[in-house]
Amino acid sequence: MGDTGAMCSRLSVASIIFIGLLFGSYTREWNQPITPYRVVSNLYYVGTNYLASFLIVTPQGSILINPDYQESVPLIRRSVEKLGFRFSDIKIILISHAHDDHAAGCALAQKLTGAKLMVMDADVPEIESGGANDFQYSNMRWPPVHVDRVLHDGDRVELGGVALTAHLTPGHTKGCTTWTCEMKEGNRSYHVVIVGSPNVNTGYKLVGNKLYPQIAADYEKTFRVLKSLPCDIFLGAHGSYYNMDEKLKRLRRGDSQAFVDPSGYQAFIQDREQAFRAELAKQEKQ
Ligand SMILES: [Zn+2]
Repeated sequence: MGDTGAMCSRLSVASIIFIGLLFGSYTREWNQPITPYRVVSNLYYVGTNYLASFLIVTPQGSILINPDYQESVPLIRRSVEKLGFRFSDIKIILISHAHDDHAAGCALAQKLTGAKLMVMDADVPEIESGGANDFQYSNMRWPPVHVDRVLHDGDRVELGGVALTAHLTPGHTKGCTTWTCEMKEGNRSYHVVIVGSPNVNTGYKLVGNKLYPQIAADYEKTFRVLKSLPCDIFLGAHGSYYNMDEKLKRLRRGDSQAFVDPSGYQAFIQDREQAFRAELAKQEKQ
């Protein structure tokens, strides 16, 4: 674990970018800039049109969830600055899961900010090997990066009065993480859920998966966990999970409650669980 980290800390920003450009399966259509916005309290959206990244600002510095692709990092930086904050104030970097569209930019974001990278235990080998151990995607690579703090299911990440809880919601990746926190605004308190991913990607083997034998049981756990989480504000690793475009239009028309959507959250989980069960039944028949 430490070896790749030691190597990485000696790499310059230019060499990190170069290594990143050699590999990876970058999708330009997912990386279009959009105007950043405040979701609730001190939680802001700083991602792209398709890749959700969140900034939580505290008096002790900021937390960034999802650096996305390496090519996203400059866009996220611009969004952070557009909101009036400093990119260099980011003290902690978190991810939704170890896929390149959420995590390939970790090394670059860490180099630019000096922030501590904190990752769920089962995703750590992926992140530190630059995607080399993925059970599904052999072409997915990013610059290896040292994980500063290994997280376990239920761990809390705290900074400047904000506490995020890391919920292990595995299946999509082995260490896929759903983040929750409580945000206060005015005299109301909101349960915020940032869903890691409940999706069974095309080609995922749910039955007889030699590289991930417990994958189906892990998805079962994920749906149990997701259904149990109290949710007022529904967010996720992609805006498409929670109809961001439509909610953002409402927010920009002045509806400050646009992202409050407990029933939309439950409906999404139910829909994704049905999709998982249908795929599992199909594969079990084969
Ligand atoms: Zn993914």
